[in-house]
Amino acid sequence: MEKSLVTPIQYLKGIGPKRAKSFSKLGINTIEDLLYYFPRRYEDRTKFISISKLQEGQTYTIKTQVLAKGERQSFRRKGFNIIEVAVGDSTGKIFCVWFNQPYLKEYFKVGLTLILYGRIERYAGRLQMNSPEFEIVSSKADESLSIGRITPIYSLPQGITQRYFRQIIKNALDGYLPEINDFLPFDIRSRNNLLNLAVSLINIHFPDNLKRQNEAYRRLSFEEFFLFQLPLAFRKLKKKEKTGISHKVDGELINAFIEGLPFRLTLAQEKVIEEIKSDMVKPPAMQRLLQGDVGSGKTVVATIATLIAIQGGHQVAFMVPTEILARQHYSVVSRQVLGIRDDIKIGLLISSINKKEKEKIYREIKEGKVDLVIGTHSLIEESVKFKHLGLIVIDEQHKFGVGQRALLPAKGTNPDVLIMTATPIPRTLAITLYGDLDVSIINELPPGRLPVKTMQFSEKNKSQAYEIAKAQLRQGSQAYIVYPAIEESYVLDILGAKKMYNELKSGEFKEFKLGLIHGRLKQSEQDEIMLKFKQKELDVLVSTTVLEVGIDIANATCMIVEGAERFGLSQLHQLRGRVGRGRQESFCMLISDAGTPQAKVRLAAMLKYNDGFRVAEEDLKIRGPGEFFGLHQSGLSELKIANPLTQMQLLKKAREEAIKLINIDPCLGLRQNVLLKEKLLQRFPEYDKLMLVG
Ligand code: ADP
Ligand code: MG
Repeated sequence: MEKSLVTPIQYLKGIGPKRAKSFSKLGINTIEDLLYYFPRRYEDRTKFISISKLQEGQTYTIKTQVLAKGERQSFRRKGFNIIEVAVGDSTGKIFCVWFNQPYLKEYFKVGLTLILYGRIERYAGRLQMNSPEFEIVSSKADESLSIGRITPIYSLPQGITQRYFRQIIKNALDGYLPEINDFLPFDIRSRNNLLNLAVSLINIHFPDNLKRQNEAYRRLSFEEFFLFQLPLAFRKLKKKEKTGISHKVDGELINAFIEGLPFRLTLAQEKVIEEIKSDMVKPPAMQRLLQGDVGSGKTVVATIATLIAIQGGHQVAFMVPTEILARQHYSVVSRQVLGIRDDIKIGLLISSINKKEKEKIYREIKEGKVDLVIGTHSLIEESVKFKHLGLIVIDEQHKFGVGQRALLPAKGTNPDVLIMTATPIPRTLAITLYGDLDVSIINELPPGRLPVKTMQFSEKNKSQAYEIAKAQLRQGSQAYIVYPAIEESYVLDILGAKKMYNELKSGEFKEFKLGLIHGRLKQSEQDEIMLKFKQKELDVLVSTTVLEVGIDIANATCMIVEGAERFGLSQLHQLRGRVGRGRQESFCMLISDAGTPQAKVRLAAMLKYNDGFRVAEEDLKIRGPGEFFGLHQSGLSELKIANPLTQMQLLKKAREEAIKLINIDPCLGLRQNVLLKEKLLQRFPEYDKLMLVG
C-alpha cells in the first residue's frame, strides 16, 4: 500500500484492526487524523521538583517511586473503596489516593517509576494528592518520550494510555514525515512568519521548547482559520458578481413612515438605515448582519428596509423564531404601515393557522398579492413560493440554524438579505466569523432608557424580590415571572411554572391578576393571554422561556427569573431585555442559590454588565466559541486548536490572506494552489459544488 497521510491508521506500527476501532471512536481514522489529534496540555518534565519542596495547595508534576500500596473501605461511606499508594523520591514521601477505582491497585507495583500530576492537599497531617493523573514509566522508550522533555498530555479514553499514545504519534511522525507536504502557499507562509507544516506537527506533539510549541500552535491555528475563511471569501466574491435587485430607496412611503413614528430615530438607527439603503440600491444582493442590543430598535429599521422593497413592487419575507413574536410583529407593523398606506397587504404565516388559511396565503404569496409576509420557519416550507421576492429579513438569527437561513434566499432571484441579532459579538469577530456578511451595529439605545436594575436573591430571600415587584404592580406596572421548565422535574428539582402559578395566585400575588403562558398551550390560548397582558387585563405573566426573544411591552417593569442558575448568560440578558423598554425604572431580579461555579460566573456577569456587547463577550469567554455560536451553525466545530477570542489578530490575517488569494485565483486552479485545493475539498466536500456552480 502506498504511504500517504490518508492511509488508514491500522497500518501504522503499533496499531492493528482491533485497536484501530478504539481510535476511530476518537475520530481518528487516518494518519493525518492522528497527527492532527493535538495535546490537551503539556507538562514540563525537563526537571522535576523534589518532594521536600512541595507546597500545599499547588499543582505539580513529580517523578516518584512506588514505596507501598494499600486498599481499604471508607470509614464514613459504606462500600466506598479507597486505594492508597505511598510514593517517594530521595527527599521525602507523600501519599496518593484514588476513590472507587479498585482495579487501579494492580497497576502500582512497588518499585515502579511513577509520574504524577495533581494538587497537593493536606489530609490527616500528611501531604497527599487526590486522584492525580498518573503515568507508569517502564521502559527506555517510554522515558525518551515521557521524561526529560516538554511532554504532551492528550485527552484519551480509558484503555489508551498516555505513553502508548505518545509512542503511536511518534511512529506516525517517523514513518510519514516525507508525506507531509505543506499545502499553504509559500508566499503566505513567509509573509506571516509561519512555520512549515512538518516542523509544526513535530513541535505541537514533541516541542523542543515552549517557544517552538508556540510557533507550531500559531501556524496550525492560522491554517484552521485560513481554511475556514476560504469558503467565506469565495461566497462573498460570488455574491458580489451576481446581479440582484436595484431597489428604489428614496420615496414618499419611507418618509411618511418615518414622520409617522411616535419617536425620532436614534443616530445609530439612521446610520444603519443609510448602510442598508446603500446596499439595497446597488444590484448585488445585500448580505447584512444587523447587531444591536435588546431594545435598541432593530424592528423599525427592518420595517424601513421592508418598505423600500415594497415601494418598488417587491415582496418581503420576514422570519422570526416564535409564533408569539410573529404575531407581535404582524400587529405592530400592520398598525404602523397601514396608517400611512392602506393598499399594502401584509400576511401572517405560522404553523398553527388552519389548512384553509394556509392555502389561501400560499396562493396570495405566489400570485404576488401579499407584499409582506411575516412568519416563523413555516416560511421556508416547500409550498411557499413567491412571485418576486425582493428582501428577506431574519430576526433573532441565533435561533435559526445555518440551513434554515440558507433556504429562504432560494425562493427568489438574489433577494437582499438582512439578518438581525441581539446576541452581539465584537465587530472583528463578527466580520471574521460571518465573513460573507457585512456588519452593521446599532450602538445606542433610544433616549430616556434607564439601565435595568439587576439584583440577585437567594431562594430564602425571594419574598424580597416579590415585594419589589408588588410595589411596582401597585403603581400600575406589570411584571414577568419566568421559570426554567413547566413540569416539576424531580431530577432537576425545578419548580414548574404551573405549580408556582397556582401558588402565587392564591398566595404572594393574590391581590393581582395573574396569567400563565408556556409553549405547551394551544396557540390561540397563548395569543389570548398575551393580548390580555398587553391590554393590562393581567398584571403578572408567569411564563417559561417562550417570552425570551422579542416581546415588547413597555409597561412591564419587573422581570423575576426563578432558578436563574439554570439559564445561559445570553438567555438571561435576553430575558432582562423584556423590561426597561419604556422610561420607567425597571428591575431584573434573579432568584438563585448559585449552583455550579460556572453559574456563579454567569450571575455575576449579569449583575456587573448591562450592555449586551459586554454580556456576549463574557458569555463567549465562559462557553467558548463552539458552544456560543452553536457548533454546526457556524462551522466553528472545524476549529480544533485555534481560538477566535484569543487569536483575533491571527484570524484577521488569515481572513485577509484568504480574500486576497480568492480574488486572484477564485477556483484555486493555479499550480501553487493545487495542494491547498485538495485540502479544502477534503475539509469541506460541499465546496466543490460551490465552485462549479460559481
Ligand atoms: P429590538 O432591537 O430588541 O428588536 P425593538 O425593535 O423591539 O428592539 O424596539 C424596542 C422598543 O423601542 C419598541 O417599542 C420600539 O418601538 C421602541 N423604539 C425603537 N426605536 C426607538 C427610538 N428611536 N426612540 C424611542 N423608542 C424607540
Ligand atoms: Mg427584536
